[in-house]
Amino acid sequence: MVTPLMFLQLCVLSIVLPTTSSAFILSDGIFEGREDDLFAEILRDEAVSRLDQLGKVSDADGHLERTFMSPASVRAANLIRAWMEDAGLTTWVDYMGNVHGRVEGLNASAEALLIGSHLDTVVDAGIFDGSLGIISAISALKVLKSNGTLTNLIRPVEVIAFSDEEGVRFQSTFLGSAAVAGILPVSALQISDKRGVTVQDALKENSIAITEESLFQLKYDPQSVWGYIEVHIEQGPVLEWVGFPLGVVKGIAGQTRLKVTVRGSQGHAGTVPMSLRQDPMAASAELIMLLESLCKNPKDFLSYDGQCNDSTVESLSNSLVCTVGEISTWPSASNVIPGQVTFTVDLRAMDNMGREAVIYELSNRMYEICERRSVSCIIERKHDANAVICDSELTSELKFAANAALKRITGEIQDEVPVLMSGAGHDAMAMSHLTKVGMLFVRCRGGVSHSPAEHVLDDDVWAAGLSILAFLETHM
Ligand SMILES: [Zn+2]
Repeated sequence: MVTPLMFLQLCVLSIVLPTTSSAFILSDGIFEGREDDLFAEILRDEAVSRLDQLGKVSDADGHLERTFMSPASVRAANLIRAWMEDAGLTTWVDYMGNVHGRVEGLNASAEALLIGSHLDTVVDAGIFDGSLGIISAISALKVLKSNGTLTNLIRPVEVIAFSDEEGVRFQSTFLGSAAVAGILPVSALQISDKRGVTVQDALKENSIAITEESLFQLKYDPQSVWGYIEVHIEQGPVLEWVGFPLGVVKGIAGQTRLKVTVRGSQGHAGTVPMSLRQDPMAASAELIMLLESLCKNPKDFLSYDGQCNDSTVESLSNSLVCTVGEISTWPSASNVIPGQVTFTVDLRAMDNMGREAVIYELSNRMYEICERRSVSCIIERKHDANAVICDSELTSELKFAANAALKRITGEIQDEVPVLMSGAGHDAMAMSHLTKVGMLFVRCRGGVSHSPAEHVLDDDVWAAGLSILAFLETHM
């Protein structure tokens, strides 16, 4: 005799059992309404409706925009907090505006599993970036609450909705997760936005009185944390290409941002002969073409020595991406040869040493070009973040959970979920300074993100939630 409660437990347990068990559940016809049994109501329908609801919480009319501690961010935080409570979690908001929801499980002093993502958005954002990770975690815990197993968790589980990841308002990413990881410097509290409001003031406007001391208190004790996982939209096209709703992340690329300033001789567009020009615009064009060639074919540029071996170049060939996204000229008039051109370089790669080798080679060749063209060239390093390699144990647990979830939903034996690299930064990057991290990517249409066109299929939202549920079941 299978009682309704046993029935639910069978469902959940089967997610984490070997494939033969899931095949049993799906193939013997016990389950009539399979979608109900896979918690579609909570993990898909409610999750999708909450994504839509959160996607309407905006500071702007006509597009989605939620920046650190803005009125819409505070409304979003309240909404998320209510959903956490609905899932049976104890909630609070910390000194950096992060929203926490925690269940202690069987042993409140055991190391906690943290699951998070960010509640802020870019300007004119999509509704899934950040929100999907928060909502899928809350939904999975709500399923445990609804089947009475929330308290069976062998360790505390805490969902954190980070207040700032995109860095739109203060041009400083990861304010929320960096504070929890204990890597946010005190000086960050004094960074100003465009209106001159500091991070500290923005928090104060919302009755959060952060001090130097309370910032230090935000740091979690590494001994109290077991690991951190994050679900996030892929923000790239690979999963769609390979036809998979989910992928696990092997690592997050390291990143360097450069500012290149090229100065030449400003002059009249009509009177200075071509042979006598020191044109920083033409020089910049050549520098940018060099960057593209180098990043497309690093092996043609890098010499093999102690700094750059075979595997480094191989890794670069697979992961190096370089972008010039911002360029400005002075005085920027159609009839004037510019006196100065500045542009940015965003350079990302999985191999930290390889990234250094590229910057070294790029800088040398850029200076050569500038010298040949008789212009001056200054290359400044504005930002550096080392690559983060996801924990292999966490990654294989997430992969197992994702595989099981997909088998449950489709009823088919799938190929293994793909393993991807992340070219985009995530809260997991900051959290890796505190604990081991793992990430699950969810397919998004056309790989498009940071745009209202960002889209995730309802069933893929479901698959993400079911994967987190399967993952949580391994902690019972
Ligand atoms: Zn994001």
